[in-house]
Amino acid sequence: MLDTKLSQISLNPDHTGATTNPIYLATAYEHEGVGKSTGFDYTRTKNPSRSFFEEAFADLEGGYQSFATASGMAAVQLCCNLFNSGDEILVSFDLYGGTFRIFDFYESKYNVKFHYVDFNDEAALKNHINNNTRAFFIEPITNPSMEKTDLKPLYKLAEQHEILTIIDNTFLTPYLSQPLTEGADIVLHSATKYIGGHNDVLAGVVTVKDSELAEQLFLYHNMVGATLSPIDSFLLLRGLKTLHIRMDRSIENAKKVAAYFNGHKSIKDVLYAGTTGMLSLRFNDNYSVNKFLENIEVCTFAESLGGTETFITFPFTQTHAEMPDEERLKRGIDDTLIRLSIGIENADDIINDIEQALEKSIK
Ligand code: PLP
Repeated sequence: MLDTKLSQISLNPDHTGATTNPIYLATAYEHEGVGKSTGFDYTRTKNPSRSFFEEAFADLEGGYQSFATASGMAAVQLCCNLFNSGDEILVSFDLYGGTFRIFDFYESKYNVKFHYVDFNDEAALKNHINNNTRAFFIEPITNPSMEKTDLKPLYKLAEQHEILTIIDNTFLTPYLSQPLTEGADIVLHSATKYIGGHNDVLAGVVTVKDSELAEQLFLYHNMVGATLSPIDSFLLLRGLKTLHIRMDRSIENAKKVAAYFNGHKSIKDVLYAGTTGMLSLRFNDNYSVNKFLENIEVCTFAESLGGTETFITFPFTQTHAEMPDEERLKRGIDDTLIRLSIGIENADDIINDIEQALEKSIK
């Protein structure tokens, strides 16, 4: 079962009987002679600590091979190497601002075209598909609007048109969904978030379904070297050991927070997909987000997610600050919206903290 696999991840990694995986800091590995190798030559290419993580993660995802990267954005960029000038990519309309920024860069610099679409609107989607369509890039729970996308029909459509499906599964993790086992081609994560789980590692991971994609990504991963360090690889494995209990508790807490603030006098909308620890709140116009963020005490005003602590983010000036005003407003990202990554604290403490800060936030 997955929870057993997670708790015991990378137990007995080598012949020594060690019960956690060692950290191999060596960047170079000795050769017994020309053409002879232990399988490890140079750390940019392959490192034993990184391999422990990558092999364990590919197994969790039901994938062929994983590539650990120095950040979630390096994971997104690794996938961008698959695109050529003239390719068209269909992308979730609402998504992480940093991903929007890198796609904007690829569009202006390399002539790859990105169309932002609602993946739940099949008719509109079909209108966008043409001979140049190379990939779907999907956040199955969008950031920050928390809209859920039904992936199953998309895999079928993508297969019919020979389109790659790339899923950014950061909000869900392999504990909640394993898109490669259902028909996706590539899954990526910002492992900085739930995978690491403790706000102390910047990391990403890309997992592919077959050897052909693995060969292509290996080339770019090794060529550039935005690879994950041995220590960070160790920390991700340590984080994974408790992923299931952290996720379960975050979701349990998030459900309580969403239910409590639904219909609350200060809150216009609770945006919650129901299946993760992530939710967003839209304030009524007579409440100030600025004042609210100055008054929270248990929750932390910080720009990340997926840790043990409840983080509150203000997408308007943080995660989506780089998006042009017009694009942000189209997505409902304005100065009334906050995003919460619900942690594993006591749910009442989180709710009472938000409640007391709201009381101090009337304009
Ligand atoms: N994808 C999603 C959904 C994210 O939320 C983020 C970061 O917040 C990223 C990718 C980028 O990851 P990183 O910050 O680890 O580079």
